[in-house]
Amino acid sequence: MKTTVKTMMISALMAVGVGCTNTQQQGVSTSAEGDFEYNNERFADLQMLRYRVDGFEQLTLKQKTFIYYLQEAALYGRDILFDQNGEYNLRIRKMLEDVYTNYKGDRDDENFKAMEVYLKRVWFSNGIHHHYGCEKFVPEFTKEWLQEQAILLDGIDKNEWKEDFDILLDIIFNPTVLQKRVNLAEGEDLVKTSASFYYDGVTQEEAEAFYAKQKATSDTLHPVMFGMNSRLVKTKNGDFIEKKWTTNGLYGAALKKVVENLKLARPYAEDEQQQKVIDLLISYYETGDLKTFDQYSIAWVENTEPLVDFVNGFIECYGDPLGLKCSWESIVNFKDMEATKRTETLSKNAQWFEDHSPVAPEFKKEKVKGITAKVIKAAILGGDLYPSTAIGINLPNSDWVRAEHGSKSVTIGNLTDAYNQAAKGNGMLQEFAYGQEEIDLVEKYGDLTDDLHTDLHECLGHGSGKLLEGVDGDSLKAYGSTIEEARADLFALYYLADPKLVELGLVPNKEAYKASYIAQMQNGLLTQLVRINLGNNIEEAHMRNRALIARWAYEHGKAEKVMELVKRDGKTFVKINDYEKLRGLFGELLAEIQRVKSTGDFKGAQQLVETYGVKIDPALHKEVLERYKKLNIAPYKGFINPVYKAVRDTKGNITDVTIDYTEGYAEQMLRYSKDYSVLPLTNE
Ligand code: ZN
Repeated sequence: MKTTVKTMMISALMAVGVGCTNTQQQGVSTSAEGDFEYNNERFADLQMLRYRVDGFEQLTLKQKTFIYYLQEAALYGRDILFDQNGEYNLRIRKMLEDVYTNYKGDRDDENFKAMEVYLKRVWFSNGIHHHYGCEKFVPEFTKEWLQEQAILLDGIDKNEWKEDFDILLDIIFNPTVLQKRVNLAEGEDLVKTSASFYYDGVTQEEAEAFYAKQKATSDTLHPVMFGMNSRLVKTKNGDFIEKKWTTNGLYGAALKKVVENLKLARPYAEDEQQQKVIDLLISYYETGDLKTFDQYSIAWVENTEPLVDFVNGFIECYGDPLGLKCSWESIVNFKDMEATKRTETLSKNAQWFEDHSPVAPEFKKEKVKGITAKVIKAAILGGDLYPSTAIGINLPNSDWVRAEHGSKSVTIGNLTDAYNQAAKGNGMLQEFAYGQEEIDLVEKYGDLTDDLHTDLHECLGHGSGKLLEGVDGDSLKAYGSTIEEARADLFALYYLADPKLVELGLVPNKEAYKASYIAQMQNGLLTQLVRINLGNNIEEAHMRNRALIARWAYEHGKAEKVMELVKRDGKTFVKINDYEKLRGLFGELLAEIQRVKSTGDFKGAQQLVETYGVKIDPALHKEVLERYKKLNIAPYKGFINPVYKAVRDTKGNITDVTIDYTEGYAEQMLRYSKDYSVLPLTNE
């Protein structure tokens, strides 16, 4: 729940000129970038980017080999996520890929082109629903055309989807079927109305009762994360069973390949502790035992020394409307030594930040424990981190593991850098900034404060505060994720303006933070709306959080005109009049949000989120969409992975690992589907 899928609108808004003061960032000098092209192809509402993995060539052969096998393990989990995201996703993907690769007609045909875009979106979302908004894609090719294509494929291909073809057609073309991947609409049966495949034949009430019962019998001090690695199924005779995701259970074929590559990677691990981490992970994949998963998490969080590290597993629970079941993901990475200095400075001072926060004393941690902070470079992205990804990660998710053993917190420097580089000059800042003063501030300090915001959010924000004794970590239910993200963001916003950051040498002066306040308010009130279709509410937790913060601050600062929404030529702008007072408001809200979290105040969370985080003023929404449309920017971005190749001698030993950035998007997706698809198309 703690992964920051931070909006890329912030980065886009922060597009700055070369005059940025952030010299310690990412260690990529302008000259070294040469003619590397960050922007790649564009379709629908998506822009594909590439990222650089500078420093890979300088790693030792042992480290490169370690990364090589880990990235293989990362790629083998892809199909798991497709299935988690929806029962028919693998079949639909295979059918469309068969049509796409065997098509003999005119590739400029309208229907073919529309199908190509649809397929590219399916690849991007790991399923037929939008990766962010969760709504089902609307095909712009006809049902008849697809039927004709399928007939042409008779006998040419092993089209295992054939017997379900009519069902698949209905799912693609009937707008009333499986409308949303995750439905969070108040008052509906969230489990029944969500298309994600975490439950089968189960109602929300039944699922909640099933897990409430498990919880009631559990170790209250060290509870495992019930339900996180299984599908809950109601059998024909009305029993409930958990189908566990293990090497011998559901998704076994894929998990066996993951384990096989983890075993190959193991001898090249950076230290003994890391070998133990791998052993525990393998054991967990083999048994599905959640206590083993906690042991693995502890071993992983305590393994702070290695340069190369990785996440591989069932991690994030955004795909389950009840927030229990975790989607599969993987990232392999190595430490960016230069940029890590910045976050280490924050980490070293963690207690100071905790002690000085505006939160009530009873909700503070007496001792902030084990926060490790580093900037990493992603080497490969897999599962729920691919192609759309996070730019910061804070794990593990288990509350008690975090409380007793701390958490690992990373910002992914080479991805942030790719976003920033790709967004330069896209016109967003000029369109939405109130005036030249705001543009100058953002251009001058935007990259720096954006990075610091992420660092503060991940390194300190999520790790701060505590639950009162006896409070269940899940008591905020569907509002939990939004409140948690708001808590971390507010912690960051509050401290960005603190003189302590100047004292620590993290910002050059007392004015730099203003860039982040401009970004926060513009994004929360205006620019993030470009990612939502007119008429829809805000659904996604991180977006709800940003709206909540911005609108709450706007409403509560109205009387004193802390900020205004100014109209000019029919366009709305955010004008911040008093940055100091705005900081005060952020502090006030942080204290309230922490109280809600610490006391498990469900009503309080509901009131905050529903009042400020969900609804959109339709007139303003329309205006923002129109202004944005004129800029012609894709609202969502994702990454094409580099390609790693193992160079082997005659005995099969790896003598080098090469990295290549030239593979195209469709090419990559088709290769993954060919080389890394080991699951059956139907997983029951
Ligand atoms: Zn977060």
